[in-house]
Amino acid sequence: MITLTYTTLSEICKGEIIRRGKKDSFQGISIDTRTAEKDMLFLPLKGQRFDGHHFIREAYEKGISGVLIDKDQKLNTDGLDGIYIIEVEDTLKALMDISSYYRRLFDLPCIGVTGSTGKTTTKDMISAVLGNRFKILKNIGNYNNQIGLPLTIFNLEPQHQMAVLEMGMSSLGEIDSLANIANPNIGVITNIGMSHIEHLGSRENIMRAKMEITNYMNSQDYLLLNGDDQFLSQMRNVPTKFIKIFFGLSKDNDIFPEEIQANKNGGYSIVIHWKGKAISFNILQPGIHNVYNALASIWIAFHYNISPEEIQTSLDEFKPSSMRLEIHQFNNIKVINDAYNASPDSMRAALAVLNLQKGNKLAILGNILEMGTFSEEGHRMVGADLALTDINNLVTVGEMAKWIGEEATKHKVDLDWHSFNNNEELIKDLPKILQNIDAILVKGSRGMRMEEIVYYLQERS
Ligand code: ATP
Ligand code: MG
Repeated sequence: MITLTYTTLSEICKGEIIRRGKKDSFQGISIDTRTAEKDMLFLPLKGQRFDGHHFIREAYEKGISGVLIDKDQKLNTDGLDGIYIIEVEDTLKALMDISSYYRRLFDLPCIGVTGSTGKTTTKDMISAVLGNRFKILKNIGNYNNQIGLPLTIFNLEPQHQMAVLEMGMSSLGEIDSLANIANPNIGVITNIGMSHIEHLGSRENIMRAKMEITNYMNSQDYLLLNGDDQFLSQMRNVPTKFIKIFFGLSKDNDIFPEEIQANKNGGYSIVIHWKGKAISFNILQPGIHNVYNALASIWIAFHYNISPEEIQTSLDEFKPSSMRLEIHQFNNIKVINDAYNASPDSMRAALAVLNLQKGNKLAILGNILEMGTFSEEGHRMVGADLALTDINNLVTVGEMAKWIGEEATKHKVDLDWHSFNNNEELIKDLPKILQNIDAILVKGSRGMRMEEIVYYLQERS
């Protein structure tokens, strides 16, 4: 982070300097004492479990040069000598205001990625295809919310040439605030699914929330939309102040595969017609959803004049973040670790990948959380889909995941289904269940910690 002064800081976040410190500038912002270092600004946030204001003294010991505090905190400043203390209305708002200011110190293109599933993968793939040519700033892992995005922005340095930023949300207005900070000139919406439907109530509302990514766009800016998505495709008929580009498998998209072939490894070979030429690409990642992620990435790479050869080299080198359809071979069993998180849509995408594997297939599926009143419908959708595949073995973990089993066995009578309350109970019975299994998918919401099953499978191999 480049150095800012406390005077500038108090102006940006309309704060009141209640005490001046020895050093009138800071380099770096920390919201957690574990990352606090000498001459940084400490910015305490009120979380659900902790209030960062309780850790100000600890940060002080680490040599910070100043601290922001919420106005309503009755902070005892005794002993906090020599550092700036600035009061603001709300430290979270201050964090966002500072990052919005900081972002504007850099005149660089920014690509914002949102959508229900596939944000991290698409962000990483876009960064990969641009990354051999440009110095890119991207979110670390899944730092995509009103805290993670500002912290990402503070990593912008003069050598960066572009930013590729994932934007997540759980309610209306959040993407608006992230778009206001990041100011993207290209937006990507991967799809409209059911993640976070608990807070938003309907997929129409989810669509509205995602479209907030365009709130600060103008007529030279682009929005890339999955044109095969039931909701996003409706944007074809809506006039907009920005330019719309549709990507997808169907031919009415602006970028689509003229030819597509599934490869043995689960990846795809595609041919795209671009400016009168047929260009082939190989996508190594399994799952048809990765063709969508690649199409969006390829369009953006073309937009920045990257050659097909360079794009292919980057696609070959691309490695998705961990626990997203990672394929392992443990002895004779192929294990697909997609335990990072789950929504009905990503679960269906992952089941499609399992279905492509050879031999006897087992799906180990945990609860899909955070779906509120749509929980039952979402799980049953997955079960109905599973019944259409060649997957003959199912293990569910948790109460909600039982709905998957109930629905799937209704339509597929020969499905061998076992239900468990938790991972521990499953692990006890797993050796029996694994007999004759050749390929396994492990997936569930973050809270289900399904990776425990993968670790077990790895250890026993
Ligand atoms: P989060 O909301 O947790 O940040 P995300 O939107 O960043 O999730 P990823 O982490 O990229 O999503 O992917 C999660 C899983 O979703 C992947 O492991 C894969 O199974 C599936 N997935 C990836 N891309 C897509 C896509 N375009 N459409 C549907 N499913 C996808
Ligand atoms: Mg993500």
